[in-house]
Parts: sequence; C-alpha cells; structure tokens
Amino acid sequence: MPVVIPHDPLWQRSLLTISFPEDFLGGRAMAKKLGNPGSLPEILRGDFLTIIEEANDIRSRLRFKALEGDQRADIEIYGAEDLPSEIDGDKVTVGYAMPEGKRELIVIERRVAEREESYRRALCAHEAGHAFFKLKHSSDRRARSIMISGLRRDGENHYTPGFREDDLERIEELYAR
Ligand SMILES: [Zn+2]
Repeated sequence: MPVVIPHDPLWQRSLLTISFPEDFLGGRAMAKKLGNPGSLPEILRGDFLTIIEEANDIRSRLRFKALEGDQRADIEIYGAEDLPSEIDGDKVTVGYAMPEGKRELIVIERRVAEREESYRRALCAHEAGHAFFKLKHSSDRRARSIMISGLRRDGENHYTPGFREDDLERIEELYAR
C-alpha cells in the first residue's frame, strides 16, 4: 500500500493535544449526525489515556498530550447517547471519528462503557487510529489490524485490544520523518 502523508497542517506538527470536554461544541449538522453528544464516561477516558501512552511509545515523531478539563484541543473526545446506528447486517455503529474545522472529533456511544475491557480498548484504539494517525480502514482481514472495519474476537475470544504490529509499522512509516 502506498504511504500517503496527510496534507493537513495539523498533521505536520509534532505534538497534538486531546481533551474530553463536557459540552459538545461541534456544528449543528455534526451534532445531528452524532446523536446527543456530551461528556465521555470516566472508564472510557481511562481507555483513551492508556491509548495515548501506547501511542507515545511508538517510535514516531508524533506525540500526544491530554489537556485537563474543558479545554479546546486538536482532538476532542465525546460520549453520546442515541448515536445514529447504520445497521448493516448485525453491525451497529458505536463510534465515529471525523474532522470538524481545525479539530478532529471522536464520539463514542456511552453504553460502550458497560462492555468488557478488550472491547472498549479495541473500539477506542480503532477510532484513535482514524483521528490520531489519519489511518484508513484496513482491507486485509487476515492481518487482524485494529483498523479493520467492525470489531472481531480473536482465537481466545478477546477483541484485539490495541494497535497491532502492522498498524505500528504503518504509523512509524507515516510519521518517522
Ligand atoms: Zn473505522
């Protein structure tokens, strides 16, 4: 797969900030698409903070920092109720990552907080892959990439919990300059 460097100036920077604002500040159209966005449950904040540590361990020039409280950040992460579900067979949408102006938004259905850790971590890492690293979906189902669309259980009946080797290699390839 050819390596495409994101053109957005945001992604030319070496430090990106994230925050978990209580109030959704996105545009009206965006809010409609995203159900009822607001604060992210504490347990999911913890999952994203773990993902940040993991991301900062990648041998890449790109680093992440979580801001306290309601501060505006490059990547803002929200919880949502009644996230519109695009039902596709038994597939239900529980997370979105999308650009909005100069920011990147991640919205996670609040009920995900009730799921087991490996599911939460896999979902949050997937959306972080889009928002933190501009990764697109992986089409190679055998690669077991976190960026495959739709979560899958592994042989031990766990969801893939975080970035896999091929994801890390791709991130390093993208940002190691
Ligand atoms: Zn996705």
